[in-house]
Amino acid sequence: MHDKTLAQQAALLASGELKSRELVDHYLQRIERLNPALNAYLQVDAEGAREQAAKADDILQQGKGGPLTGIPIAHKDIFCTQGIKTTCGSRMLENFIAPYNATVVDKLNAAGVVTLGKANMDEFAMGSSNENSYFGAVANPWQHDRVPGGSSGGSAAVVAAQLASAATGTDTGGSIRQPAAFCGVTGIKPTYGRVSRYGMVAFASSLDQGGPMARTAEDCALLLQGMAGHDVRDATSSDVAVPNFSSQLNKDIKGLRIGVPEEYFAQGLDSAVADSVTEALAELERMGAILKTVSLPNQGLCVPAYYIIAPAEASSNLSRFDGVRFGHRCENPQDLEDLYKRSRGEGFGPEVKRRILIGAYTLSAGYYDAYYRKAQQVRQLVSNDFTAAFEEVDVIAGPTTPTTAFVRGEKTDDPIAMYLNDLFTVSANLSGLPGLSAPCGFVDGLPVGLQLVAPANEESLLLNVAHRYQSSTDWHLQSPATID
Ligand code: GLN
Repeated sequence: MHDKTLAQQAALLASGELKSRELVDHYLQRIERLNPALNAYLQVDAEGAREQAAKADDILQQGKGGPLTGIPIAHKDIFCTQGIKTTCGSRMLENFIAPYNATVVDKLNAAGVVTLGKANMDEFAMGSSNENSYFGAVANPWQHDRVPGGSSGGSAAVVAAQLASAATGTDTGGSIRQPAAFCGVTGIKPTYGRVSRYGMVAFASSLDQGGPMARTAEDCALLLQGMAGHDVRDATSSDVAVPNFSSQLNKDIKGLRIGVPEEYFAQGLDSAVADSVTEALAELERMGAILKTVSLPNQGLCVPAYYIIAPAEASSNLSRFDGVRFGHRCENPQDLEDLYKRSRGEGFGPEVKRRILIGAYTLSAGYYDAYYRKAQQVRQLVSNDFTAAFEEVDVIAGPTTPTTAFVRGEKTDDPIAMYLNDLFTVSANLSGLPGLSAPCGFVDGLPVGLQLVAPANEESLLLNVAHRYQSSTDWHLQSPATID
């Protein structure tokens, strides 16, 4: 039953052929067997999951369930969950139990999902390989010596290894799409503000956005429906009406104008990845879409601008972890300054410290104009590039990542090489646009991701295009040999 998609499981639950309790027990057994080698789950809440499943089965029996009732998922460990730990992959929050649920968690609970546990992640969502987790790296289910991507690497591995029907993730610079690409699953970063950030541990607040990761676009539509919507507790939450995503999945893509940015196929892109993506574009063309070359002239400035803005916001957001109010506190502090220094020194890992230092530097009085303000100006240019491109095309398509999953340890000593993983993903965050990654091939047994970006609030369009593509290809249905 684990090899069924969320939508297929939902149909079986609705008809009574499958009980949520059975499905949950089945996943719990798989987790016990497969998770030790993967390290995708940081925490499993077997008791809580069985309770939620029993309730879901009652609701289903009464015929009152929705499409998510009784569906077992994993939450990225960045979402606050009342009663069970929320570590954010950090020693700083090793024993933190949030006093409330994130809005995403509350909404999905209300929709009837079952939470199996919390998924591993890069510390404070900073990273592209999940190697920055205080709780250890995650193995890519396709090849265990490879990284699953990051920062939602645990969520992607959970979905790829079929250890839950789907998972939540967050994406500040690519952290849903890049691990989705590396693990051969589908993931969508919605428009900024579409999903509430309340109770989602903050990394870079103007870029952070939660979203679903699942086997198919159809499953992502179902999960996103449960996550999206205006929230009075998040001041940046969007009050644009949320459409019914699932009902828009079968639109013909004949005549759809797909923009292919010339800058995406330039230096830095692995040639075999380029071939897979080109073939995916040809398939979309055969389905009736019209391909058009477009230009995003400031593409080359995205990574530098992102790595100024994200650390600047992170240095400010992470100042709350002071040993007083949240998280780790050092032993026997001598005075207040010693308390701050040692609590933060011990609680944060090296990448988080690097980001705090960069952020504090670029925000400091002497450098603010040269770095932070400049980066904000570049951000506007990046956004303008998309606005201009969307005058000519309906969606933009290209590779999600420059390469397939790399070997663990390969880039840990080279932060710049690590940051270049985000080459094609950060632009959607800088401009607040929705972006999706869907499996579109394999290179040497490792999955390749096709990225689609749309204008604001057009998640339905992305899900529709991906669903149509998945109706005529089967890349998304392949599963790793290591998981049976
Ligand atoms: N890899 C990027 C970073 O390290 C993106 C992370 C994210 O989207 N959370 O900042």
